[in-house]
Amino acid sequence: MRLLRTMDAGQAAMTADQRWHLKYLHGWQDDYQGDHASAVTLFRQILAQCPDAKLRFRARATLINSLNTTRQFEPAYRELDQLMRDLPGITDPAVRYQGLAEASMLLNLAGQSDLAEQLARQMFQTIPPGQSICLAQVRLLDALVLAARIKADDPAFPQGIEACLKDHQVLLSDLIRIQHVDALVREGRMVEALHQLLTFHDEVLGLGYAQFTVDWDSTLASALYRTGRYAEAARYASEGLPKRPWENPSGAIAKAYRVLYRVAKQQGDMATALAWHEKYMDAEKRQLDAASASSLAYQRVRQEVAAKERELKGSTDENRILQLQQALDRKAVETSRLYIALLIVALASVGFWLFRLSRSHQRYMRMARHDGLTGIFNRQHFVEQAERMLASAQREGSHLCLLLMDLDHFKLINDAHGHGFGDLVLKRAVAVCHDHLRKNDIFGRLGGEEFGILLPDCTLANVSARAEAIRITIAETSDDEDTRGVMISASLGVASTEHAGYDLQQLMADADHALYRAKRGGRNRVVLDVVELGERAAS
Ligand code: GH3
Ligand code: MG
Ligand code: MG
Repeated sequence: MRLLRTMDAGQAAMTADQRWHLKYLHGWQDDYQGDHASAVTLFRQILAQCPDAKLRFRARATLINSLNTTRQFEPAYRELDQLMRDLPGITDPAVRYQGLAEASMLLNLAGQSDLAEQLARQMFQTIPPGQSICLAQVRLLDALVLAARIKADDPAFPQGIEACLKDHQVLLSDLIRIQHVDALVREGRMVEALHQLLTFHDEVLGLGYAQFTVDWDSTLASALYRTGRYAEAARYASEGLPKRPWENPSGAIAKAYRVLYRVAKQQGDMATALAWHEKYMDAEKRQLDAASASSLAYQRVRQEVAAKERELKGSTDENRILQLQQALDRKAVETSRLYIALLIVALASVGFWLFRLSRSHQRYMRMARHDGLTGIFNRQHFVEQAERMLASAQREGSHLCLLLMDLDHFKLINDAHGHGFGDLVLKRAVAVCHDHLRKNDIFGRLGGEEFGILLPDCTLANVSARAEAIRITIAETSDDEDTRGVMISASLGVASTEHAGYDLQQLMADADHALYRAKRGGRNRVVLDVVELGERAAS
């Protein structure tokens, strides 16, 4: 800051170019200190007037970050679109690197983990001189962990941590630790997760970064809860909560409240449990709303951009019609009939474009909710629909079962027969599952080769037969003509509201645990989560 003040004093002697750079630094400082409105104004001035394309690109990348922090998602995605158009013209590796990192992060927030992954991979090809792969690895892991496309044992985790530590980027190395712990928890490896969480607890909290503190402590608290250490769980959950109320929604805060609510319930303190439960539901709802607002904003901007491109094309079509008309004039062959025909053509083309526009709107709404490859619900829409169905089952007092299904040794299939064949297998597996589903069942692709199926009006007593039928039908696709000779099978983990209650996260955790046991037990099998509460605490 002192440096900036000294530079301000010397402004009179600066070239115009140096003054633009100074403006950029001020914007950056305002952003860092939380004065986002002022930062946005400065960056917009640079974008509107600065002649230096490279500086404009950097200003846009930082602007995107400010807009996103202040939850102005649509403007953020609009700038992102421009940033991606400008990218091919940027050759300076440091500037490219920054832009790619920003874009990858934002796309991940919009739930576009595939695109986020692609951009993170491009970052590896443009590591600026003197820097390591640290930031590229952080972005890549972010995308892979979100899409559940990476195992906790992947060497990318330790490699990233090492690179970041070498660069003295402790904050980023700890971010990778958070991602790694998430992966361990996902795989049900609670003992290892706990070990990591306790070992690095002081280091992470020592950063004094509120977002990391609540992430770490709430994850630690829920791992402790799941291993039956209730008192410690509650202590870490409440210690991790931010001291002042937070504007931005956060999944970690919801997680901390959930632990507090469950511990109070466990201790029979129903009044306190109820109070925590309310906070938990509120935080959870805000988090889900923000996630879908961000994802919808992304789709809306895409649609807007597509519409603009069509408009451009439309106006050249119009020009052609005009020219045609003039030619007709010149040749003096206008008859009233021709005019009418022209009118009809014009009307028809307007109608056609309107029709196309509404079709494309429907298509984008569908894209926001469905998986591109298999056509079933994507993870986010699955979660939304499942929560709705759980709430209504709870009101009616009926029971539901959740099946988590993961294709076996899918990586081997890809490796042996190619990714295209892998895609075919995914589509085939989804198609045959449909034969065993009813109208109200909810079917979604949760990531990679993992699927969720929520069955209403279903109990532990009758779910086995249905899950088994799905397992068998998938194993039978090995005999199809185009997949003959390839071993295709799936493992399924099943959980029921009878044990897990009506909380989706618990239901998912239980089914995931059962799935893990199915894998451990040799794959191509169905395992029911029939662990009683006491037993679960001990596992
Ligand atoms: P396991 O039996 O333990 O589940 O082993 P696995 O090989 O199925 O599990 P792993 O998670 O190691 O590998 C999943 C693979 O799925 C890795 C990834 O390349 C592949 N995959 C993820 N998404 C897609 C996709 O959309 N298409 C194709 N073809 N492959 C995908
Ligand atoms: Mg698998
Ligand atoms: Mg998997």
